[in-house]
Amino acid sequence: MSNGMRCRCARCMCSGLMGPVVLITLGVLFLVGKMNVGYGFGDLWPVLLIVIGLVKIAQAMASTEGHTGPGQPGQPGQ
Ligand SMILES: [Zn+2]
Repeated sequence: MSNGMRCRCARCMCSGLMGPVVLITLGVLFLVGKMNVGYGFGDLWPVLLIVIGLVKIAQAMASTEGHTGPGQPGQPGQ
């Protein structure tokens, strides 16, 4: 995955965002669940799916201009 040469094209940047965005979302969901707002993590977990979907959409729409890695960017199984 990481070969030392990081591609700076928009799509690869979006791919790199997926992990941190999921972690941040999880953290926020647990935090909200901890606060006494009437929603627990059990109510809020679908937000995570929505966020992952949004990142996927951003990834699909992001430009691959300047892509320097091997193969097609953002396609699994390469
Ligand atoms: Zn790229």
